[in-house]
Amino acid sequence: MNRKPDNLTLPQPLNLIGNVWVPAGSGRSMPVLSPIDGAPFTEIADSDASDVDAAVSAARAAFDGGDWSRLTATERGRLLMTYARLIADNIEALAQLETRDNGKPIKQARADMVATARYFEFYGGAADKVHGEIIPFLNGYDVAVHREPYGVVGAIIPWNYPAQIYGRVVAAALAMGNTMVLKPAEDACLSVLRLGELAVEAGFPPGALNIVTGRGEVAGKALSEHRGLDFLTFTGSPEVGVMIQIAAARNFIPCTLELGGKSPQIVFDDADLDAALPYLVNAIVQNGGQTCSAGSRVLVQRGILDKLSGLLAKRFAEIEASASGEEALLGPLISARQKKRVETYISEAGAPLIAQGRIRADAPPGGFYVAPAVFGPVDPASRLAQEEVFGPVLAVIPFDDEAEAIRIANGTEYGLVAAVWTRDGGRQQRVAKAMRCGQVYINGFGAGGGVELPFGGVRKSGHGREKGFAALYEFSQIKTIVNNHG
Ligand code: NAD
Repeated sequence: MNRKPDNLTLPQPLNLIGNVWVPAGSGRSMPVLSPIDGAPFTEIADSDASDVDAAVSAARAAFDGGDWSRLTATERGRLLMTYARLIADNIEALAQLETRDNGKPIKQARADMVATARYFEFYGGAADKVHGEIIPFLNGYDVAVHREPYGVVGAIIPWNYPAQIYGRVVAAALAMGNTMVLKPAEDACLSVLRLGELAVEAGFPPGALNIVTGRGEVAGKALSEHRGLDFLTFTGSPEVGVMIQIAAARNFIPCTLELGGKSPQIVFDDADLDAALPYLVNAIVQNGGQTCSAGSRVLVQRGILDKLSGLLAKRFAEIEASASGEEALLGPLISARQKKRVETYISEAGAPLIAQGRIRADAPPGGFYVAPAVFGPVDPASRLAQEEVFGPVLAVIPFDDEAEAIRIANGTEYGLVAAVWTRDGGRQQRVAKAMRCGQVYINGFGAGGGVELPFGGVRKSGHGREKGFAALYEFSQIKTIVNNHG
């Protein structure tokens, strides 16, 4: 059963602390704008260090002897499964909220909610399947290696996939028995608050999951620096990621960083272009290009440069940015700031414009719409080829041979996802193995892939792995117990 929203009920401007919804201690709240029309439509709590402190205390109490700490792995798994079903029952209401708050097309929002439910289903099933090991040692000894939760995990997440990133972080961390304080992004966090309500309904014990909203430089900074945390996980920009890593180092705790990307799709002249084209376009248009793993560079072997540029031109010219209804492919960007940033990259591209789409005439005038653009040939050393635009802007970069393709693909500071399009089996393997990144697709592009597939970056794209079993290992630590019974 999928509950349909009769009208859009909005979460209150409150934080979730110890299973109780409370306003920011200061009483302050801040406005939330919809990217669709740029108008404020609700408020969220504008929290500060004292709210974060209360949330960390609740998470600590739940971990150190609270009801949560007494659950077996199987019981935790069942709770996650119950939660997964509740989310699945509320997909439409959650998706409507996400679209209003984030601006993404409704079909994309529904897909996000399906993935969010799937995270809790997957990690619910996995919770009691992470086993330790027995190590052969000296005579008279038994050595057991246990996997234990860290304790209180602080999580800071961005606005581009609020519900999905919530799902991937929270489900894995809770499955391993940690407790959490999560700070969603001020630009879009209403679906996360609604998911918090559903977590209470699912029956999570008080303090297992706490949610504090507010500004990055206030609530986010306070969380990242809090001395009561045992682990930090951050998804967002490299600029803030550096600060998070420094804060973690000061507290001597581990952290994982999921940052940006400049992911290449390498198209060789033997590729099936009909198969590739939808992936090449979707990888940069989906979510308005505001995806860390967006395929923002298409590397094209010179023999097919004109042909592929022509195909991309035709497709891009047809794409319209529009209000995020049923037929929308490309919605508004998240904010006026993001729109301006992307428009600046377009006006200062420094490369020939291959084609540009349009903003539909009926798009609300105050909304943050940008017409998608494809440029080429783009110089691999230029800003457009090196910097993350985080918008629907594609750079087409020609290359002559395999070695040059690999050099260009690896030639940015980022390394998140890559794709190789070729029918040559040997080349598929050689190029995939040569990519300096966390995930490579052969004749496909999954923008982060499914819930089951480990995902994460190298260098400026961050470190640590989320999704799949890899996340369970990330959110747990090893303890070796040596029993001398000889
Ligand atoms: P951002 O880094 O400004 O914000 C991300 C989160 O950090 C938000 O919750 C924000 O409130 C918080 N924050 C901001 N300043 C902070 C501070 N000083 N201390 C602690 N927390 C702070 O990023 P953004 O502009 O919201 O998101 C866009 C960027 O995120 C892009 O670069 C994109 O590539 C990246 N991103 C990466 C992934 C991934 O999985 N690798 C996913 C989504 C977004």
